[in-house]
Amino acid sequence: MSSAIYPGSFDPITNGHFDIICRAAKIFDKVTVAVLTNSSKKPMFTTEEKMEMIKHVTRDLPNVEVDTFSGLLIDYAKQKDCNVVVKGLRAVTDFEYEFQMALMNKKLHNDLETLFLTTNNKYSYLSSSIVKEVFKLNGCVEELVDNYVIEQMKKKL
Ligand code: ADP
Repeated sequence: MSSAIYPGSFDPITNGHFDIICRAAKIFDKVTVAVLTNSSKKPMFTTEEKMEMIKHVTRDLPNVEVDTFSGLLIDYAKQKDCNVVVKGLRAVTDFEYEFQMALMNKKLHNDLETLFLTTNNKYSYLSSSIVKEVFKLNGCVEELVDNYVIEQMKKKL
């Protein structure tokens, strides 16, 4: 059975993330969306809240599971017995960081492959941070995140 891990902060999940999840779910038998808990950023949502929103948004995708991890991604991948990491690529700015991460992960764990899926151009400018910023300033984020996520953000403010 082929499987892949899609790691990230998902604070909160956006339609750009969801697009990558749907496409990865067509390529692999199983996709694990893994919420990173040791992020240095100050998050809006707790890990449990992030996982709950991802579960809600991906409820119609039977081969997608939601999990959490901390520490090195390679250790988590070994623990899951999974050799593929999926990442979304938005722009040149993502590329430099992701390229460095992919090479470092390869150095630490030679069997691990990083697969890049190019962003859907509808979402190429989209990040969790810009969604939060616009939302806090009362801007409309309706086509950028699921309505359920909007409800959860409203509760935070
Ligand atoms: P951010 O906080 O910048 O939205 P995350 O750390 O949650 O990002 O991102 C997890 C993964 O999803 C990364 O591989 C990132 O490049 C990818 N990603 C984030 N937003 C998009 C998008 N709009 N389109 C494609 N991939 C994306």
